[in-house]
Amino acid sequence: MENNLISKLFGKQVPLEIRSFHVAMGFFFATIVAVLVEAVTVMLPVPFYVVTGFTVLSVVAAYGFAVRTGRYNLCAFGISLLLNLLELPLAYFIDGRMISSALIYYSLAFYFIMFNISGIYRIISLFCFFLSYILSVTGMYLLHRDYTGFRKEPFSIVSDVLVPLLICVAYACVSVLFRMRMYEEEIRTAEDERIRAEKADQSKDVFMMNMSHEMRTPMNAVMSAAGLIYDKDVAPEVKRHVGYVRNACENLISTVDDLLVFSEMEGDKMEFVREEYDLEALLEEIVNMISVRLMETEVAFYVHIDPMLPKTLFGDGQKLRQLFINILNNAVKYTVAGYVELNVSVKKILGDELTLMAQVSDTGIGIREEEIPRLFQAFERVDDKLHDTIRIEGSGLGLSISRTIAEGMGGGITVESEYNRGSTFSFEVRQQIIDAQPLSAIRDTASLSVLLFEEEGKRADSLERAFRECGVDCLTARNDVAFRNHCRNERFTHIFISLDHYIEFRGILAELKGRIVVLQDIDQTMVLEPHMERMLRPVSCLTLARYFNHKDSKAGAGNGSKLRFRCPDARVLVIDDNKTNLFVAQGLLGRYGMSVVTAVSGSEALNLLDERGFDMVFIDYMMPEMDGIDTLKAIRSCSYSWVAEVPCVVLTADAAEGAKQMLMTAGFDDYISKPIQVDQLTSTIRRLIDPDLIKRLD
Ligand code: ADP
Repeated sequence: MENNLISKLFGKQVPLEIRSFHVAMGFFFATIVAVLVEAVTVMLPVPFYVVTGFTVLSVVAAYGFAVRTGRYNLCAFGISLLLNLLELPLAYFIDGRMISSALIYYSLAFYFIMFNISGIYRIISLFCFFLSYILSVTGMYLLHRDYTGFRKEPFSIVSDVLVPLLICVAYACVSVLFRMRMYEEEIRTAEDERIRAEKADQSKDVFMMNMSHEMRTPMNAVMSAAGLIYDKDVAPEVKRHVGYVRNACENLISTVDDLLVFSEMEGDKMEFVREEYDLEALLEEIVNMISVRLMETEVAFYVHIDPMLPKTLFGDGQKLRQLFINILNNAVKYTVAGYVELNVSVKKILGDELTLMAQVSDTGIGIREEEIPRLFQAFERVDDKLHDTIRIEGSGLGLSISRTIAEGMGGGITVESEYNRGSTFSFEVRQQIIDAQPLSAIRDTASLSVLLFEEEGKRADSLERAFRECGVDCLTARNDVAFRNHCRNERFTHIFISLDHYIEFRGILAELKGRIVVLQDIDQTMVLEPHMERMLRPVSCLTLARYFNHKDSKAGAGNGSKLRFRCPDARVLVIDDNKTNLFVAQGLLGRYGMSVVTAVSGSEALNLLDERGFDMVFIDYMMPEMDGIDTLKAIRSCSYSWVAEVPCVVLTADAAEGAKQMLMTAGFDDYISKPIQVDQLTSTIRRLIDPDLIKRLD
């Protein structure tokens, strides 16, 4: 019963404010008891009993009010006013002495204010307290010679000093100890919470990494198999459908990447790796991906890349790629007609530091001015019912991730938009320059003279600009009369013409001396006459440089996955416990003409390595029994140098940056993330395989 009452008043379930109030009430009633005890021993004046009785009744009423309404702060404020402005000064004057218990009880009122009242009520209470105290002491000092009050009894050291002092000190000690205990409890709870949250955060990270791995592994099989079909000689219809499959896979993977980055961002753990990367390959891959995404839409894609951009940079290429993809994907998603335009340029070069600037403009749905400030917040999406003609899906993460990446790379991101007309997202990042050689310098531009036939205004402007930026002399015919005139009167080394015009003017073209380059969209698969060349849109200085420098004269943008060499004499070993992945890897590597041997475990691979030599080994990281690192260690510790020194590349679906660094530190020669990108595979093979085994396909 007793325990019950104590638990009701002071139990942990009772809020701190109320428990503290109950402590104060306990001491208030202890004071009343002390006064009553004093009244039994010493006869106190009658008005004293009246005032005390009134105070007790008022406090009980205030407490009742607090219990019913829960407004303990207000109730404590009322009690403090009652004590400070009425009870204590009256008791002091009734007592009629300079040294009376009332003066000491003032300190009880002071503690009461400090421990039980908060906010503006505390300030008012303190003001009243000091006013009342000062007035009482000054008033009594002025009166004390002839004023003895109502009290007739002599001064008592016990009831006037010791008892009130004891009560006040006890109250102060109990309140301080009580607060300290609460404080320690809070610290302990907060620490427990922190540890729990940290554990939950770690499990979330592991979960995210596992999920990313689980999704990338099957995606690897789907995308690589789709890539193999795409590169076979299949019907255009099949190619188109395979294109959709690759498109959907890439979408899914970029969502998985976004989620991974977001989980890093949430825990303030976003790390930027610092490594060398090929800017040309990065831009080419992005342009490719977006061209495929725009296939069979009414949206044109224009690309302008500053040819003076350095070829190789140092920084976080993977994050930069994600930044480009997020912004471009949005432009594609929110545009149904018109165009998407990408501009990449050098903003500033300071020593070996480059500030790269990119702009993505579209003629899409646009954004209302008032919506712009919230776009960059996580999970914020503009829910626009007006545009229900476009199926717009999204997580609302893309822009917040993009902003974090851009700012983390020393830059920023801005947007300008006009509702219903389009948007322009601009961002800049700072990266270090490793190889200042320009991305796409064309050799011997003086010997080139180009005739461009393009009737559509924006297309013609964009092509003209690409030629101009590359320093190639180009004359543009914007209608058929001009085209015929130029063909009749002048000589050109090259004639660039769109597929539609090529069909229409085939006769004239057959008589011309220059090389004919037919500009096609990625989904235009018409077979050309043997002497015609094909260039895929969008045409940028990357495409032009590759074409004119004869690196890849038959292929244009969009053919980043075309092989430029073969290694028919090379032998490679692939180790993966997943048979589908082995089959896919075999298909991908087979394209380089290599002989590919497979193993489903590290131990099987070691036996194979002992038996015969290989030029390169690809090892899956996640395998039962011996994982990728164990297998690598076993290979490196082999006594035959031709086994121990073989280039080893790890294949993993774990896209987290930390994982990559961990694997490279373990001693792999390179890292390829699944789904395997042909460009990445090509550059890894070219870098690691014995150069004598490479046969170029120029
Ligand atoms: P998501 O696209 O997944 O919704 P984002 O963070 O990438 O998330 O974009 C947030 C919002 O910004 C989108 O919901 C969209 O309303 C708006 N937005 C982004 N890019 C564009 C764009 N190019 N054109 C129009 N609206 C855009």
